[in-house]
Amino acid sequence: MYRVTIDRDACDGVFACLTRDPRFVEDDDGIATLDPDADPAPPDDSDDGTIERDDETVVGTFDDERVADAEDAAAACPFDAITVEAVEGEP
Ligand code: SF4
Repeated sequence: MYRVTIDRDACDGVFACLTRDPRFVEDDDGIATLDPDADPAPPDDSDDGTIERDDETVVGTFDDERVADAEDAAAACPFDAITVEAVEGEP
């Protein structure tokens, strides 16, 4: 299980993340958000996850094999607005 956090204050809408992981999409404010349904070809056993949004962050928790995609998106972000971390011990 892993958690993907977008810092909405740090995000500047460059959208380098979108091309690395299709779960990243542009929201109405021109800032990145997470939408698991936006992946046009989700792999088998992909998890829609749990998405929580507030003014400062978008947090997605997933239990599937796409952590490398999220890490690629995080590495591509020029503002370090994306954090990917392992989550242990949560259902
Ligand atoms: S790459 Fe970073 S700054 Fe650009 S849209 Fe994605 S999260 Fe925002």
